[in-house]
Amino acid sequence: MKRRTIIVVSVSLFIVAAMCVFVSMNMTSIISLNGNPASQAATPIPESVATSVSPAPPPSNENDPITADAFVAPLARADERTTKKPFGIYITKANSPVQPERFSGYHTGTDFETFLEEASVDVSVSAICSGKLLSKRTASGYGGIVVQSCVYDGQPVTVIYGHLRLSSVQPGVGETLQPGDYIGYLGTGYSTETDGERKHLHLGIHKGSVLNILGYVQSKEGLSGWIDACPLVCKSGN
Ligand SMILES: [Zn+2]
Repeated sequence: MKRRTIIVVSVSLFIVAAMCVFVSMNMTSIISLNGNPASQAATPIPESVATSVSPAPPPSNENDPITADAFVAPLARADERTTKKPFGIYITKANSPVQPERFSGYHTGTDFETFLEEASVDVSVSAICSGKLLSKRTASGYGGIVVQSCVYDGQPVTVIYGHLRLSSVQPGVGETLQPGDYIGYLGTGYSTETDGERKHLHLGIHKGSVLNILGYVQSKEGLSGWIDACPLVCKSGN
């Protein structure tokens, strides 16, 4: 009896083993119909990864230089605010759109005015580009001023935000700002916060990395050290 049992078990095991081989060979041939089993099994993962990565970044505005795309408006409705002193305008005490006027020369920046309804509310100013905050202090003719280091057209520039309420400027010197990051509020008009000027933003872009915060230069040639910010930041106005 025992020998018969051993024979039966042995035969059964052999049959089971043979069936396993048969089934596995069959499986291989089925998979092979669809190509290499290894690559077939791996394919779905790369495909799904590729699908999530492959979409191209949104096309940039073809009319703008690539480097200008990184600049944004410093204030909401920026395009409606450049009504008095654009970049490069020659100002005299007699012809100035701002009266009384105490400055004269070629305007090195762009002035962004405030609306009537903003006279007694805080108006936020934000960074127009990516770069470190170099300086925040009080300066003659400006009141509160912030200077930021940025890159335009592959070259270093410094960006001047003039007439800010210095106490509202949150970021510290050395901190890197991204386009649109809050800098501070405009100073109260005709106060020490603006050094007696109306409530507005003076935005200047000076070429190079040397700090120069002049609001006016006395010769037209002197303007060549400055960049007109408006084509870079006035377009959208947030
Ligand atoms: Zn100005």
